[in-house]
Order: sequence, then structure tokens, then C-alpha cells
Amino acid sequence: MGYVEGNCPKCGTKIRESCNAWVYGSPIRTCPSCKSEFLDKRFREVAIDGFDPRANNTKLYFFGFLGFLVFTIVCAGWLIAMINAQQSYPVKLVGCIVVGIVGTVGCAVVLLRQMTGYI
Ligand SMILES: [Zn+2]
Repeated sequence: MGYVEGNCPKCGTKIRESCNAWVYGSPIRTCPSCKSEFLDKRFREVAIDGFDPRANNTKLYFFGFLGFLVFTIVCAGWLIAMINAQQSYPVKLVGCIVVGIVGTVGCAVVLLRQMTGYI
């Protein structure tokens, strides 16, 4: 989940809203302070504007998948070498492996969704 920040064009109140990665949602926003409505063009109405082209970028997720996979394998190999050499290991390396696995699986899921047309 991400956040979009901005100021109300009428009263200037700083507004921070949660949004998804592609900032989908109605561009008609309501200021929580003065209750005025305004258009925030950063929000993308899927029914009108369609999906963000980056969401269908198969190349990005393919190389992301490969990158995370290589990162995970390198970290796992490094961890095994550290355990063999010192009988101990840095916990940060385990964290890197967890991040690598999450990134690999995440990219694989998005890639599969793109390839099957289920977005
Ligand atoms: Zn306002």
C-alpha cells in the first residue's frame, strides 16, 4: 500500500490518503477539513482511463523475478558458505533471503496474472 500526499486547493490543508500501487480510484476527492470537492489527477479511474500501462509491463516483472531469484540464490549460497566456515551466520543474511523469496514470489504471482490475462 502506498500514500498520496497533497494540499487541498481551497483551504490548503495537507491531505494524506492511502492508495494502491497504481493509484486507482475516483479522482474526485473530498477535503476532510473544509469538505470541498476537487479533482486529483494523480488518481486513475480504471473505467475511464483503463489500467496503468506499467501494470501490464511483463518485462519489468520478468526481470524482477529473475533479479530476486538470483539475489536469493546468491544469499543462500553465501549463508551456506558462512555456516560451513564459521558454524555461525549473520542474521541480516537470513533477512536478505526472506526479502529475496518475497520478491521472487511476488513478481512470479504478478507475472502469472499478466500471462493468464487475470489482472
Ligand atoms: Zn480543504
